[in-house]
Amino acid sequence: MARIKVLGSGKEVGRAAILVEHGGRGLLLDYGVNFDENDRPIFPGDVRPRDLDGVVLTHSHLDHVGAAPYLYSSITPKLYATKVTLEVTRLLLLDMIKLNGNYLPYDEKSVDDMLATAEETEYNVEVEAGSFTFKLLYSGHIPGSASVLVEVNGRRILYTSDVNVIDTKLVAPAKLNGVKADVVIVESTYGATNHPPRREVEERFYKSVREVVESGGTVLVPAFSVARGQEIASILAERDFEYPVWIDGMIRQVAEVYASHISYLNMPGLLLKALSNFNVVRGWQDRKKALKRPGVIIASAGMLKGGPSLYYLRKMAADKRNAVFMVSYQAAGTPGRMILEEGVFGEERLPVVARVEWFDFSSHIDQRGILKLLRGINGIEKVVLVHGNPDTQKVLAEKIREDLGIEEVEIPANGDTIEV
Ligand SMILES: [Zn+2]
Repeated sequence: MARIKVLGSGKEVGRAAILVEHGGRGLLLDYGVNFDENDRPIFPGDVRPRDLDGVVLTHSHLDHVGAAPYLYSSITPKLYATKVTLEVTRLLLLDMIKLNGNYLPYDEKSVDDMLATAEETEYNVEVEAGSFTFKLLYSGHIPGSASVLVEVNGRRILYTSDVNVIDTKLVAPAKLNGVKADVVIVESTYGATNHPPRREVEERFYKSVREVVESGGTVLVPAFSVARGQEIASILAERDFEYPVWIDGMIRQVAEVYASHISYLNMPGLLLKALSNFNVVRGWQDRKKALKRPGVIIASAGMLKGGPSLYYLRKMAADKRNAVFMVSYQAAGTPGRMILEEGVFGEERLPVVARVEWFDFSSHIDQRGILKLLRGINGIEKVVLVHGNPDTQKVLAEKIREDLGIEEVEIPANGDTIEV
């Protein structure tokens, strides 16, 4: 037997932290943060670093890595992740310290200490960490992202982490078919719904962009810095979009990391084309230029909570020729959600006269995808749902029981332990 302890992402989206335990030792899979309504980080449950044989980071989103440096003060458990995950994680953590440093129990030094213990880990290579053996598997979520197959005491536990099974510009579908696992811990963010076909979303997005630009407007695309912004740039590059495109904020830095590790990209030519044909904003002069002629501005942050996207919004919102095309999830209480629901932004509740639309470019697997994924895995005794809202999880659990005949589907809360 072994044990799974859910320290975060139990009955909630984000804040992933899964501890696999055996014989008093642990292997920690992710250690992420969420943010409260005042933008302060919320940490997962505690773990003692000296009890860990290793920490595996599945991918470079803050809700999977944001708490990890906290573990690295005196004891330094070994850290495992792909090269791209490590590089982008560093950028994100340093940025978070800049923005949120006062509320964080760690600083730049902890990030350095953590990365100093890191072992770059490739896909499909077996790694021994104390009494645990594990392998990173291609998860199709963002470049460098991985699922983890852990073997301990004769049990095989697959943690999908954030995963996807569709073809996108940046990543190919997850490669988990044929894996043998007794227990599967799977994300359930969109476990009760299905996304529209990606190709259709791309076409609708592109058509809408052309309409706006050809009528003399500029399209603002607020996008997440990690993967979404680069995906949108690649979509425009694929279609040889002939109007000016500007890329602003951390999207550019992350794009440069991706461009220097093209083996992690599904269609590397598109991102390279975007970086050479499109304009990169390097200062305030460029921001003014970007607003002068009709075109597209892809800018961080994705939910308009700050960063250059908010600057552009202020300049563009009052002109009805312009558009704000949202391509990222908009959490409750964010300016992005307020624009979608009420058509206003800021404390002054300024009206957004520009055209507003939302496009489903999610990088998370949907219900259809989860069922397909689980069908491809052999020997499942138990499925554990994490990283989802309880209502969604209930629907998905029922569906898994009905369609796949797997009776044991658990929905743990944070702090719960599951014997496996
Ligand atoms: Zn993610």
